[in-house]
Amino acid sequence: SQYPDAHFLTSANAPSQFVADTGSEVAVAGRSNAGKSSAINVIVNRRQFARTSKTPGRTQLINFFALRDEARLVDLPGYGFAKVTASTRAHWGQLIQQYFEQRQSLQGLLLVVDIRRGLTDFDQQLLALCHSVDVPVHVLLTKCDKLKRGQAASALLAVRRELADTATVQLFSALKRTGLDDARVQLDAFLQQ
Ligand code: GDP
Repeated sequence: SQYPDAHFLTSANAPSQFVADTGSEVAVAGRSNAGKSSAINVIVNRRQFARTSKTPGRTQLINFFALRDEARLVDLPGYGFAKVTASTRAHWGQLIQQYFEQRQSLQGLLLVVDIRRGLTDFDQQLLALCHSVDVPVHVLLTKCDKLKRGQAASALLAVRRELADTATVQLFSALKRTGLDDARVQLDAFLQQ
């Protein structure tokens, strides 16, 4: 592994529970079922990261992991629109907004998007928030193995056009490890800023 000493730090459901805001961190977000946990698993080569975040009671929390000294990965909660109540969505919005507005160590967001769905309202909210606080976004257009090569290329072009210059985007597949090297390079580039 690139991060032999990687480990879980803490879960937060309020800013007072965030870990000390030093060093660098990269956040990972995605609408639920987009494939975020699978992407984290292969990128950091750490199965227990995503498992920790999927533990009942932790799925609505911000989960902090140390990758190495002063370099963290932060797994942000996602949700599916059909599944949550208005109050859950409001709490999510508030917590995420506080996180993005306060975090000095935040260097970038990896946004995991299911290639068959494209950008959702959930993704647009995060893109707007990142734009407002000047945090760069890199989109992983995941599950690209589910489409034929030509279809995946078209979907990539469509999302790239939709994003314009608000984010960079690449094809990804946790299953086939497509785009894994590029995703790791992007993670490291964010962490080194
Ligand atoms: P999360 O809710 O965003 O963390 O999503 P998961 O990582 O749990 O993935 C949701 C579903 O999509 C699971 O059934 C995964 O096996 C599947 N999945 C995730 N990534 C891929 C991928 O790259 N290719 C394919 N074919 N399936 C994937």
